[in-house]
Amino acid sequence: MTDRKEQLAANLAKVEERITAACTAAGRDRSEVTLVVVTKTYPASDVRLLADLGVRHVAENRDQDAAPKAAACADTPLTWHFVGQLQTNKVRSVLGYAAEVQSVDRARLVTALSREAVRTGREVGCLVQVALDADEGARGERGGVGPDGVRELADLLAAAEGLRLDGLMTVAPLSGPYAGRQRAAFGRLMDLSTALRSEHPAANMVSAGMSGDLEEAVAAGATHVRVGSAVLGVRPGLG
Ligand SMILES: *Cc1c(COP(=O)(O)O)cnc(C)c1O
Repeated sequence: MTDRKEQLAANLAKVEERITAACTAAGRDRSEVTLVVVTKTYPASDVRLLADLGVRHVAENRDQDAAPKAAACADTPLTWHFVGQLQTNKVRSVLGYAAEVQSVDRARLVTALSREAVRTGREVGCLVQVALDADEGARGERGGVGPDGVRELADLLAAAEGLRLDGLMTVAPLSGPYAGRQRAAFGRLMDLSTALRSEHPAANMVSAGMSGDLEEAVAAGATHVRVGSAVLGVRPGLG
């Protein structure tokens, strides 16, 4: 193995150990949690190594970086998730590679996603991104709809042609009442998920937890954790 492949393998093994330990502590089966590796800022060569090492789900947050990377990895069995703020003019490009859009946070985006899914004859999985730091009726600084807007957006998604409502996603807030309280934030997300599933039983995906807080997310009940730096290394600068 190359140095980089060995490094990624070692990091993946550590993350795998953390997920397994968190599942055990929570009395959950390891199979209940899917690892999504966030490959943003890292090259397609790393993504290919991850695929070789058995990773099956990867995520990106910027279409201009993700589109060429996904094209370079088109022959791998990877499923691509989009987790960033999404402008409607990028929808066509994103649906060229992403099977799951985790960051749906407004009605206009639902309309654009649905139109493109129908045009290409595909079904696209969607999560409502919840901003736990958003004021009533507002959107979060890093995207997401406030808790009071989840139901309306979920109903819209569920009724949209070409789209499949899969569940909820959140990023633990850096400000507001949940700042530094990941466990409470993820607990709130789970409550929202329970409410959602009472109307949309199949929408059982809960995407929460990153490198720094995946244990809290698994403890709360997350079905998908999105891990970047713990696998690929600390990103230089913002990203
Ligand atoms: C970057 C990113 C992650 C991964 O963060 P790490 O701290 O590197 O694990 C997860 N979710 C979203 C939405 C991201 O943008």
